[in-house]
Amino acid sequence: MNSRVFRFAPSPNGRLHLGHAYSALLNQKLAREAGGRLLLRIEDIDPMRSVAEFERGIMEDLAWLGIDWEEPVRRQSEHMDAYRAHLDRLAAEGLVYPAFMSRGEMRAHIAEARSSGEKWPVDPDGAPLYPDRDRRLSARERKRRIEGGAPFAWRLDMARALGRIARPLSWQEEGRGPAGETGFVRADPAAWGDVVLARRETPTSYHLSVVTDDALQGVTDVVRGRDLFPATAVHRLLQELFGLPAPRYHHHHLVLGEDGRKLSKSRGDTALSALRAQGKTPADIRRMVGL
Ligand code: GLU
Repeated sequence: MNSRVFRFAPSPNGRLHLGHAYSALLNQKLAREAGGRLLLRIEDIDPMRSVAEFERGIMEDLAWLGIDWEEPVRRQSEHMDAYRAHLDRLAAEGLVYPAFMSRGEMRAHIAEARSSGEKWPVDPDGAPLYPDRDRRLSARERKRRIEGGAPFAWRLDMARALGRIARPLSWQEEGRGPAGETGFVRADPAAWGDVVLARRETPTSYHLSVVTDDALQGVTDVVRGRDLFPATAVHRLLQELFGLPAPRYHHHHLVLGEDGRKLSKSRGDTALSALRAQGKTPADIRRMVGL
């Protein structure tokens, strides 16, 4: 029996644009060629940004495009217990710590270090790595702050987590990374520093929920945009810490706007709903994205 499982996993914080159409259509094409299944997952862990109206819009756009997905659709906001259980495992092993620095404090801390000549490392997205101040706090101080109501996020203790991994991490890349990486790819999660895995109010993050769900749903093939290629290193690390299988990855090129810039949900011009209103057909969309 063929058991390959693909998924398209949009976040309902805007309307789908041509880039999403390409990703969804490519998932469908590869799933069909493999005789596999295609799942739809709604990544709505952020209550501030997730809007039911956008979720309806996503399904409408996908159905119009001719994408067929299996029911039921997994909605991440309905599975916080699964993410919390994973977070608790990391906490029990001392692999996460509460990080209290606000953005402002972090900026000031880094500016000070830079002004004394220190070269502060940045992650693959260009954001400065989290300072190690909070990792060094005593258990008593952490408790005091949490009980005092201080806001915090749970961050992965990257160095300690890597210490638990017996062999170098890698994955099988069927697409291409930004520098043409393909085939056997070495993962470098350390480049991300102590990533956020959960927030005080939300027991998860993109990284934690995506890894949890891909495993729970038996996903064998992750087909997604190249912008997420570097994040795969973090996903591989979490999979290894939890003893989960590694899916195959296929990072695809991003559909760019006419100005050569990445499309975003805030730019209405390439929204599928707008293109549909202009009279474009699903066949036109396929042509526009080259599928
Ligand atoms: N939810 C993510 C997004 O909308 C995609 C996550 C993934 O495919 O791993 O960009």
